[in-house]
Amino acid sequence: MSRKYYREEIETMPKGQLQKLQLERLKALVEKVYHQNTFYRRLYDGAGVKPEDIKSLEDIQKLPFLEKKTVREAYPYGMALAKPGEAVELHATSGTTGKSVPVFATKEDIATWADLNARELWMVGLRPGDILQNAYGYGLPTGGFGFHYGAAAMGVLCIPIGPGQTERQIDMILDFGVTAMCMTPSYALYLAQKAQERGLNLAQDSKLRIGLFGAEPWPWSTRLRLEELYGITAYDEFGMTEFLGPGMTCECEVRDGMHAWADVFLAECIDPVTGQWVPEGKDGELVWSWLTAEGTAMLRYRSRDLSRLWWEERCSCGRTHPKIASIKGRSDDAVSIGGLIVFPSQVEDALTKYPDLGVNFRLIIERVRDLDRFTLKVEVKDHQLLTAESRVKTLSGQVAEGVKAICGVTPIVELVPPDSLPRATAGEAKTASARVEDRRVMA
Ligand SMILES: [Zn+2]
Repeated sequence: MSRKYYREEIETMPKGQLQKLQLERLKALVEKVYHQNTFYRRLYDGAGVKPEDIKSLEDIQKLPFLEKKTVREAYPYGMALAKPGEAVELHATSGTTGKSVPVFATKEDIATWADLNARELWMVGLRPGDILQNAYGYGLPTGGFGFHYGAAAMGVLCIPIGPGQTERQIDMILDFGVTAMCMTPSYALYLAQKAQERGLNLAQDSKLRIGLFGAEPWPWSTRLRLEELYGITAYDEFGMTEFLGPGMTCECEVRDGMHAWADVFLAECIDPVTGQWVPEGKDGELVWSWLTAEGTAMLRYRSRDLSRLWWEERCSCGRTHPKIASIKGRSDDAVSIGGLIVFPSQVEDALTKYPDLGVNFRLIIERVRDLDRFTLKVEVKDHQLLTAESRVKTLSGQVAEGVKAICGVTPIVELVPPDSLPRATAGEAKTASARVEDRRVMA
């Protein structure tokens, strides 16, 4: 059965009413975690804050932040709200930098999750009858399941292929007339490159019309490239496994910021150093609270994601929910090179200007005689290019200039053969680990 998934009453609710709903839900949640969860009770007692101190949305600032390390101390059951038997799914972050963060979901949480994802799919233009190729991972991180449940709720045929199997991905897009795709932008670039090597032009040969990309920062230039390669309109979406993302934020047809579903999540934007709110629309770190959670309590969780947050009275799409800007980077992914902060996404932006380059690159930072040395390895598309010494020299020089213009730092550029660098296929926050090798840290 197909269903219309524009929840007009909620999606266009005036700001005042939405914030009233947020406050009601926040109060109820703080009350619940304080009385039902030892971890939170200890945390809030330690900070000298009681549920009755929350009288307005601004009062949320009285609650201490959840830092990743605090959350890890609560591993494995400390932040669970649901009793065994009430939760029906357990997810977890990838845990590349320590213990993972577990997320318990009740049936009600899963229903909300499906609903939010269906709203997003509807918002970017999917309709019953579309065919969605879902190349996010199905497993502990929540990328694959989120869109899967959303598609099922709406009546969209979903192909749960997951990441990898690149040749098969291409075949399925063509053979089944896939109209929409969701995956990481870096994997989408790689997939298109592999299709081109088979002599295919997916913009002409496929029925694709919509692409949803997320899980890593991607510059506007990558969006234009993906639209050209696939013949699609590309949308940015953002979610975190800690909150059963995707289903937290997504662009509408206006593509000027992602609507953050305020009936379920409360977003704040803080100065990462002082922890204070930054003025609306200014750069800062996003902090999230999950207002309707039943399985796991996530209140004021510091994401480390750098973005902006603002409200518009009414977006031209008609929706009223606040917006966040595309994630600029992670406060802990940024590398400081010679005193300048560099994001892998900036380097990616610089590299898109050179058609002979592939999509994979790696930043290597070393300390040589007390100075930072920044080497940038970039794959070329065709290994033949590497045999022409003068072309290598010219292109390397251009790339070094291009990166300097965006990042302020000049790299030593090394062009390397195709498929010779580690690759980000899917999943979350792969950008830093796959793309940055900080030997100053490792030494
Ligand atoms: Zn909108």
